[in-house]
Amino acid sequence: MISILGIPTDTHSSFLTGSAQAPPLIMKQFHSEATNKFSENGIDLGDNKICNYLGCLDIKNNQDEFKLIQNTIQQELKKGNYCVSIGGDHSITYPIVDAYHQFYPKINILHFDAHPDLYESFNNDPHSHASPFARIMENKLATSLTQIGIRTMNAHQAKQVERYNIKVITMNEFSSSLNFNFKEPVYISIDLDGLDPAYAPGVSHPEPGGLSTRDIIKIIAKLDCEIIGADIVEYNPRKDFNNITAMTAAKLLKELMGKILKK
Ligand code: MN
Ligand code: MN
Repeated sequence: MISILGIPTDTHSSFLTGSAQAPPLIMKQFHSEATNKFSENGIDLGDNKICNYLGCLDIKNNQDEFKLIQNTIQQELKKGNYCVSIGGDHSITYPIVDAYHQFYPKINILHFDAHPDLYESFNNDPHSHASPFARIMENKLATSLTQIGIRTMNAHQAKQVERYNIKVITMNEFSSSLNFNFKEPVYISIDLDGLDPAYAPGVSHPEPGGLSTRDIIKIIAKLDCEIIGADIVEYNPRKDFNNITAMTAAKLLKELMGKILKK
C-alpha cells in the first residue's frame, strides 16, 4: 500500500515562495478526468486499496515542521506502507529520508535535479532547500547518492561531491539509455526543475537545458530493485502555465507509484 502525503511548505525556499500551494493542485491533476489512473506498466492507481491520499500535513507557523514530517512518515512506515510525498520545497527530503533510515539501514538515493542541493548552508539556513543532501550525507542516512540532470555545479558544491563521494551525472553526460543497478533499496527524489523549463515551467529556479519528462519516466521504468519511497518537490503554481507542471507532476506520481507497486 502506498500513502501519498502532501507537505505544504516553502519555509526553506531561498528565492521565491509558492511551492507550499502545490500538493492539492497536483492531486487535482491526478484526479483529472482528462486522463485515467493507470500507470504505463498497467497498475490501476484508482484502487484505494493500493494507494491512499492522506491529505496535507497541518503545518502551522513556528512549529517544528521537520519533526512533524518525520513522525508522520514513520507512522506510515510502521504500518508497512510506502510513502510518496508531494512538496513543498526540497528541504522536506531530509526529514523524510531521516524517517526512512530508521526502517531501512541501507538506502540508495536517486535524485533528479538541475541543482546538487549540497550547500553546507545557504543564506545562513542549514535546512535550506539548497542543502538537504548535505544534511542527509553528513548524517550518513544514505549509503549512496546518485544525482541526475545536474547543470549548476559550483566550486563549493563540487567539493561537497568529493567529500561525500556522490555520483553526479551532469546533463551533458546524461542519456536515457543509461542503466542504474542498485542492490539495495532505492528512494527517488524528483525536483521538478530537473526537467527542462519547456516541460516544467512552474518552478522557482528554472534552468534551461534539462531533462524531458520521458527521460525521467524511462530511467525509473528500467530500475530493477526495490523502490521504497519517493518525493516530488518544487512545483511552484505561481510560475505555471495552463497547469502543465502540475500535470507533469501528476504523471510522474503515477509512474513512481506504478513502479513501486510492480516489483
Ligand atoms: Mn532544483
Ligand atoms: Mn532541489
